[in-house]
Amino acid sequence: MQRYLQQLLDDIDTALKNVSMPFIEHELSVHERISADEEELNLPIRNLCQWTGITQEMLPPAAMLTDGDVHEVLLAMKKMLGAYNCHFILQTEVPEALQYETIRQNLDQDVKVMQWFDGFFELCKPGTEHKKCVLGEYCQCAFYEELFSGYANEELTAEDERARELEIELQYIRRKYGDDWMKYYPYHLDKNYDDDSGNPYNYGLEDDDENKDDWWRK
Ligand SMILES: [Zn+2]
Repeated sequence: MQRYLQQLLDDIDTALKNVSMPFIEHELSVHERISADEEELNLPIRNLCQWTGITQEMLPPAAMLTDGDVHEVLLAMKKMLGAYNCHFILQTEVPEALQYETIRQNLDQDVKVMQWFDGFFELCKPGTEHKKCVLGEYCQCAFYEELFSGYANEELTAEDERARELEIELQYIRRKYGDDWMKYYPYHLDKNYDDDSGNPYNYGLEDDDENKDDWWRK
């Protein structure tokens, strides 16, 4: 198994280093310019297995691997997926064997190749009932639904509203920036970072100076 795993890790590494982005292969000439909307509609689609050369069959089931092996292959696969702009991002703590199985069992998926925006690995097959996917009780779609359903139709105090904004913003930046998310921490939304005179991280974006704009009335 060790020899096989080394070969597998080498293959994943090769895939990581040889990403071919379709829009770089076929650069548009000036005469072929298309609008942003058209570009969105015409995003190239790639099958992840064909594109990376890594297939589900190449990845041994987690049950056949030690925890250490799972850790190593999972890390390599996450890196590779990131290089293909198909980020594998979870919002909650999930055991590594389950993360690995989620990648393994969903690897055969078609992805839109995006040039300017982040793309994400689909964690559930379309149409899968919540919590019936590989992630089971860790199902991320169910997590999102619960998170947002809690927000419907409730009256919030200004303080709660701010706490909610913080929670949503944190979900977003964790997803967008992965391990680097702390660099983008929204201090201005966190009451723990307020000082006596309000929040020091107010970037001048609050509209507490509404009156400044009506100089023309005077
Ligand atoms: Zn799910």
